[in-house]
Amino acid sequence: MPIDASLPYDDGNIFAKILRGELPCTKVYEDEHALAFHDINPLAPVHILVIPKGPYVSWDDFAARASDAEIAGFVRAVGHVARDAEMVVQGYRLLSNVGKRGGQEVPHLHVHIFGGQPLGPMLAR
Ligand code: AMP
Repeated sequence: MPIDASLPYDDGNIFAKILRGELPCTKVYEDEHALAFHDINPLAPVHILVIPKGPYVSWDDFAARASDAEIAGFVRAVGHVARDAEMVVQGYRLLSNVGKRGGQEVPHLHVHIFGGQPLGPMLAR
């Protein structure tokens, strides 16, 4: 069920629990600002989620409230993970769903990295 991205951050969400170590994940990368792990329900051969460590609901919330250091760290982490997964030559897709119409289900900012196969058109008509 898509969430309302204008609500305050709820630290009971699944990704907050992963960040606190209360739930497991298959980690692929971690640094001061970001954690990356495999999506539990992959939609492509490569489907990795990258999340910031701070309490941000969505891309919108992150852009409005995060520090320059957090934003730089997160953006660099997304690039690092994709490069590390050797997807730069073949190409890949980044996606971040925001709120109800965006189809966001977990209320902690995450960027999906998709790759490993031709990804087709951006959206189905
Ligand atoms: P979104 O619809 O953009 O909010 O995407 C949420 C994503 O989180 C979906 O692709 C889910 O498969 C994924 N997901 C949900 N729970 C977990 C989990 N425990 N570990 C890894 N991925 C998860």
